[in-house]
Amino acid sequence: MTRQWVFRLLTASALGIYFTIIGSSLYFAPGYLAEKLVIAETERRAGLWQVRVLSLLEEAEHNEVPHQHDDHDKTHRTETSAGGYGFNFTHLDNHSQEAIKHFVQASDAYRVSLFNREGKSFWSTGSEMVDDISNESFYQTKLKRGKSVQKLAQRKTSEIEGYDAEHVGEVYANEDIRTVSRIYIPVMQGSQLKGIVEAYRDITDQISIYKTRLLIAGAIISLTLTFTVCSALLYSYQYRKRTRILADVQREKEQAALRKELRRNREVRLLSQLSEWMQASKSMDELFEIASSILHKLLPDAAGSIYVYSNSRDVLEGMTSWNGGKHQAEMLPDECWGLRRGRVYIHGRDEIDFACSHDHHSHDEIYVCIPIVAHGDTIGLLHLGLGTPSQDEKLLDQSIKLAQTCAEQLSLAIANVRLRDELRNQSIRDPLTGLFNRRHFFDTCRNQIGRSRRRSQTFSIASFDVDHFKLFNDNHGHDAGDIVLRAVGECLLEEFDGNDIAFRIGGEEFTILLDNVIQEEAFDRIEKLRKKIEDIVLHYGDKTLPNVTISAGVAMFPSDGDMPQELMKAADQALYRAKSAGRNQVMLVNAPTDAESDIDWQAESSEDDRNIDDTKDSADIKDLQEALVKATG
Ligand code: GH3
Ligand code: MG
Ligand code: MG
Repeated sequence: MTRQWVFRLLTASALGIYFTIIGSSLYFAPGYLAEKLVIAETERRAGLWQVRVLSLLEEAEHNEVPHQHDDHDKTHRTETSAGGYGFNFTHLDNHSQEAIKHFVQASDAYRVSLFNREGKSFWSTGSEMVDDISNESFYQTKLKRGKSVQKLAQRKTSEIEGYDAEHVGEVYANEDIRTVSRIYIPVMQGSQLKGIVEAYRDITDQISIYKTRLLIAGAIISLTLTFTVCSALLYSYQYRKRTRILADVQREKEQAALRKELRRNREVRLLSQLSEWMQASKSMDELFEIASSILHKLLPDAAGSIYVYSNSRDVLEGMTSWNGGKHQAEMLPDECWGLRRGRVYIHGRDEIDFACSHDHHSHDEIYVCIPIVAHGDTIGLLHLGLGTPSQDEKLLDQSIKLAQTCAEQLSLAIANVRLRDELRNQSIRDPLTGLFNRRHFFDTCRNQIGRSRRRSQTFSIASFDVDHFKLFNDNHGHDAGDIVLRAVGECLLEEFDGNDIAFRIGGEEFTILLDNVIQEEAFDRIEKLRKKIEDIVLHYGDKTLPNVTISAGVAMFPSDGDMPQELMKAADQALYRAKSAGRNQVMLVNAPTDAESDIDWQAESSEDDRNIDDTKDSADIKDLQEALVKATG
């Protein structure tokens, strides 16, 4: 049982006890108290009667000249030791009797009797004489000592003198029981008892009146008390209720503060994790994967997406989305009010706002577009759908602030990854053709060997060199030579993509990695390339440049070597053989050796090569011959 129920039970018990006490007090107390009050009042009147009766008797004594000193028949007047006159109750003359009767009639006593000092009745207003009271215990203990004695008795109305049954209007009124007060009043002279006055009063009505008054007073007091108690209880109840509500509010506040604190701590922790992970990411893909999975936890109620400007900066590319958010492959900067205005745009909170067209939200939905700005440049957009306007404004503001912090971190991370990508690109790419460089070739080739080994596949390395390029440069200029190299690069990028990769190894020498090919296929593809390059028509200024040709050598993994250097060397040897065989051709490493014997070193100066520097050619041929001697052992 809860404390509250215990309290309620106790209150109910206390109220029960209270009303029981009040009820029984109202039932019993007025009768009892009324009786006590009437007794007290009778006592008070008794003093009056005592004085009055005494004065009447004294008056009677004065008026009457004593004829004889008869102590037994008349009220006897004697000189006291104090010098005054004393008398005894023994007889009343007519005058005194009348006087007392008048006094009794004027009072509310219905009978008065007189007793002498011995307790013997000698006169009464009633019809019958009252008994001797000398034998009563109170005569000795009280009356003789000057104390009055009062007794209550129940009497039939018929026994009460002067009770008018007709007046009452009850058929059996005479049989009604009335409460009667019978009081004995000692008449003292000094300390001596002279006589006793006995008075009867019918106190029934008086008791009834007092009882009624007391009942009314009691009821009023009880009601006042009850009202006070109930008010106090009500007040106490309301006070406790108010206190409880205040305590609840306080507790709620504390819990809210605690929740806020916990949420803030979690946000700080996740933000720092976001920053840490994003800094460690190596590529954009990895970066956005990290960002989406952490933002999904950091802003669980927001459906988010991230766009980043493409290199051309005319469109933004959709990178990632989470929590039910969607991103398009591309969007135009003009589709977003945030990007157009260059600041955070919150839709759905102001009276006037316009929806962006890049994400299709319902018109009354709240969303926020936060431009991602790094080093003063807008590099992307963080878009968050935040639901309907019924949301808690404060929470919404917190989410938007948090999202802004995330956007700041994202901007730095994106800029970092871009910078790293750029540096890496610079270190592995050739700036003239955009192809990978020699350094990257060896890394890639190592990976390719590992991959092909794991998959038990073959691959090919084809090296080619532009024929007589020195001469071309000499004849048409270095810039024209660059145009040729760039055109060759473009041709390579067109021809080889996916797992086939082209490299510019240096000068006018190129190498191609052909993944998962057999020798014939590799030969055909390089042959196709050779023809394609041969067909390239280029212009420089207003003149058309002569076509260029290439000579190529094709080596196979693993038959021609299982290390990058070995394969490269094998391909170069085949290339030299192609050069020696007359250029503008593709040669396999294991091409038939009898072809080599047929090489007419002197005849290689064809029509095309008419302008070639003979000295250089003979040096090349010498080198080649040496190489061949070495290769053939
Ligand atoms: P071969 O047919 O035997 O290959 O004759 P070749 O003249 O092409 O051979 P060589 O190796 O003697 O000449 C290579 C020339 O390529 C020398 C150099 O001027 C030129 N070259 C190297 N790199 C560049 C470059 O980046 N731009 C330009 N325009 N020319 C370059
Ligand atoms: Mg060369
Ligand atoms: Mg060359």
